[in-house]
Amino acid sequence: MTDKPVRVRFAPSPTGRLHVGGARTAIYNWAFARAMGGTFILRIEDTDPERSTEENVQVILNAMKWLNLDWDEGPEVGGDAGPYFQTQRFDTYKTALERLKNRGAVYPCFCSKELLDQKRAKAEAEEGGYAGYDRTCRDIDPAEAQRRIDAGEPHVWRLKVPLDHGPIEFDDAVYGHVSFPADVMDDMIVVRTDGTPTYNFAVVCDDANMGITHVIRGDDHLSNTPRQILIYEALGYDVPTFAHLSMILGPDGKKLSKRHGAASVEEFRDRGFLPDAMVNFLALLGWSLDGETTLISRDVLCSEFSLDRITKKDAVFDETKLEWM
Ligand code: GLU
Repeated sequence: MTDKPVRVRFAPSPTGRLHVGGARTAIYNWAFARAMGGTFILRIEDTDPERSTEENVQVILNAMKWLNLDWDEGPEVGGDAGPYFQTQRFDTYKTALERLKNRGAVYPCFCSKELLDQKRAKAEAEEGGYAGYDRTCRDIDPAEAQRRIDAGEPHVWRLKVPLDHGPIEFDDAVYGHVSFPADVMDDMIVVRTDGTPTYNFAVVCDDANMGITHVIRGDDHLSNTPRQILIYEALGYDVPTFAHLSMILGPDGKKLSKRHGAASVEEFRDRGFLPDAMVNFLALLGWSLDGETTLISRDVLCSEFSLDRITKKDAVFDETKLEWM
């Protein structure tokens, strides 16, 4: 834990509607910031041009406004603060890449996708498994690498994961102690051939640049966390506290989706549910005030919310219970 002022963010990718799972993540970040006298940031992760749409950005912003989850900062737009958009932050990623280069923590890789696909197929056929990128370009002499870059040869930038790195460990505020072996970590790509950052790299650059102290997000990101920690270490920045939230399941025990009926915030809004009831209901899917209170006002949520009362158990979303609120 850190004693710095709390700064948290909700970072949706505008690739679909705001799912109730995402809304719960937003509520936890917002309530935690309020309870700790901290700052809540909204960051739209729109770097995937094929899957992000402007319409989904608007749907997410409308859902946040309808739920009354106000964010605190961001670039000024028409008198309003924020949100931040990753597509407007490419300078941050460029600066971070320069920092990694200066620290000798990345190297250019000239292997084409075709070559890597061939290597992968061969490794899978012959040795019964692909152990990740074979680090061919890691040993290219830097002067030679620079000559190839200057000659315009296409390349990505890969993280030079220290070969003697021990297990990557962290204390998750929900999961407790988590450890991943480092030797299964690839020299991951941080910047692609076209100069765009990969997902993990952009997230770390932004979280570090925005001074995020607690990363509260769905546990579908748990396997990204050790990779992100390696990037923090390579950049020489403090690693934030992580809190990974369990899945929201439907009443049949399967991951909540369209099959279960309404799964996005706007569908509930359109069916006439009240935003305060929705916030109350979602807040209690995985967090409790005292194990029994079921009606919680925004004020109570904003003063009492704490990470240590989030449960690791998967939560079940049963909308018939919401109808009673
Ligand atoms: N953009 C990611 C998503 O929508 C979240 C990233 C994060 O919270 O670190 O799943």
